[in-house]
Amino acid sequence: MTSNAAASSSHDELVDFDPTEHPHRRYNPLTRSWVLCSPHRTKRPWQGQEESPQGTSLPPYDPKCYLCPGNARATGGTNDNYTSTFFFENDYAALKPQAVAPETNQHPLLQSQPARGRCYVICFNPQHNLTLAQLSTVPFSPEEHIVPIIESWRTIYRQISVENPFVKYVQIFENKGSAMGCSNPHPHGQVWSLDYIPEEPSKELASLKEWCRNPVNQDEKINLGALDDQKRPSMLLTLAKLELTTEGQPRVVVANEHFVALVPYWAVWPFEVLLLPAKRQIRHVLEMTSSEVVALAQILAEVTCKLDNLFQCSFPYSMGVHQQPTEKSQGEEDDSAQFHVHFYPPLLRSASVRKFLVGFEMMAEPQRDLTAEQAAKRIRECADRHYLTTMKEGPN
Ligand SMILES: [Zn+2]
Ligand SMILES: [Zn+2]
Repeated sequence: MTSNAAASSSHDELVDFDPTEHPHRRYNPLTRSWVLCSPHRTKRPWQGQEESPQGTSLPPYDPKCYLCPGNARATGGTNDNYTSTFFFENDYAALKPQAVAPETNQHPLLQSQPARGRCYVICFNPQHNLTLAQLSTVPFSPEEHIVPIIESWRTIYRQISVENPFVKYVQIFENKGSAMGCSNPHPHGQVWSLDYIPEEPSKELASLKEWCRNPVNQDEKINLGALDDQKRPSMLLTLAKLELTTEGQPRVVVANEHFVALVPYWAVWPFEVLLLPAKRQIRHVLEMTSSEVVALAQILAEVTCKLDNLFQCSFPYSMGVHQQPTEKSQGEEDDSAQFHVHFYPPLLRSASVRKFLVGFEMMAEPQRDLTAEQAAKRIRECADRHYLTTMKEGPN
């Protein structure tokens, strides 16, 4: 027997599993994919790229910004002198509303499909140098300054499908920070409407439907009594209840009367956050009551503020809403949909050190070092008051 063989046979003896020490894989039931966790690696020294921190000294109004109130846009349009949230159709939209005939005689290896849609830009606030996170702290408030953003999501969701009957899915998202490739610091998000259901929500809707119909999940020990409005098992209501009733709530970042924000057990990004309804099935933005809209604004404020406070920087992320497709496409397969919000932030160790999904992750599967529980604890412990307001007042 060689020494290598001896070493490998001793490695085959089972030791007790420690999720903070032993490499393991975690399953994402929404996308039905796995992530490799290597918690022991958080101890290794860092020699990778350092990004320069983003400057924070921006003016409240920038005459060259195409999103500031009253300014001209490149294609000739002019923004309203808006005082709250304002949206307009994107001048450089990725999709067009024109119907196009599909290509004929395609080889099965080279398939295409026409894609139709309309794209909108939502300016969150007239002030150029604010972010969602800063709207959480006085003189701003989520009730006054974030509720209008959610109301604009609702208006667009309602109007788009009325004005464009071909629209099947409405993708609301925000891309924030130069680290995420966002070219304009003015606080804004986007809404793309499409005549098809794109890959990510499509995968998730299929998983939600299968969970709902799988007889195994009828067992109350699995569904925890968290049922949808047709008394069927709901994956995401069960997840919310499971996380809120687990002793010490190790993955919960913050919760309120209607919503919970948590670092999902299967998170890929170091400080990934999933925001879920905690009480009942809400299929899409229009199904929210006014008190749920306010609760959503409050928890969005808390999550973004805590993320900014984590590394004392304007925390970059891609944030997006998943929800039920529009009425046009709604089949019974979509009635198990549950509104939720994903935050995918790239930062890893500081304002200037980010995670890249490269190498093994590109070739094999996503991998993380910091556990979801460690990440949740760090975000949870951050203050609810934005660091910039504290700095202005000085050390007292
Ligand atoms: Zn601006
Ligand atoms: Zn989702």
